[in-house]
Amino acid sequence: MLGDLAMFTSQKKNKIILTFDLEFWYDTEFLKEYLPESRQDCLVESVLPVLNLLKKYNAQATFFTTGKVMEKYPELIKQIHSQGHEIASHGYSHEFLGKLAKEKFVEEMKKCVELTEKTIGEKPKGFRAPCFSLNKKTSWALLILAELGFKYHSGRSSMPGSALLEVPAGYSGGVYFRLLPVFFFKYLLKKQRILYLHPHELYKDTPIIERAPGFKKFLKYYRVKDSLNKLEKLLQSFQFGSVEQVLGL
Ligand SMILES: [Zn+2]
Repeated sequence: MLGDLAMFTSQKKNKIILTFDLEFWYDTEFLKEYLPESRQDCLVESVLPVLNLLKKYNAQATFFTTGKVMEKYPELIKQIHSQGHEIASHGYSHEFLGKLAKEKFVEEMKKCVELTEKTIGEKPKGFRAPCFSLNKKTSWALLILAELGFKYHSGRSSMPGSALLEVPAGYSGGVYFRLLPVFFFKYLLKKQRILYLHPHELYKDTPIIERAPGFKKFLKYYRVKDSLNKLEKLLQSFQFGSVEQVLGL
């Protein structure tokens, strides 16, 4: 599948696909048990610097947005869309597909499609499951997505023969991007042709959960303050586009 993506992208002026999962910083599964009752979501604060950077380098991206974010910040989503970026779906509640099960998934995804249409006047074409939970065990979701009009899904499990186009998400978001040096990503992007990140892991003031164990804090916060600069270095080296733009959907 990676080979297919390389073939697609080489046809479109060598643009690399840029994707963001747009969720609240506290949607991180391994932090849930340590979260304080009240917390600021810092969503807008984390997205605006990313949008400015993309504008500066004339780069477009796909934002896989949760329904909850879209519901709370419709104006921000309109702004992202008006700047030429694609709005796709990251589910409604950011719950694993396996935990949601079929009926609840249908309900959530209908809500996501309606919200997207209401917010930007278009249906979403793409879906990325929370925590890459669309896999062989939850492959029942593919048919549901196709029936709702989705064209592609972006994840880490390949399920050949599905009704949706597979866009492999590759490896970059989470601790990988912050841990590994820029030159490594320059090499990786030439191979995997896609970058995925979260605005909250590019935002230096994302609230810190002090009572989380050290290793989990490392995974969540290690070198967050340097990561926006790192993205800028990649934007200087490559041309980036959204999924729909690069694949011509
Ligand atoms: Zn997510």
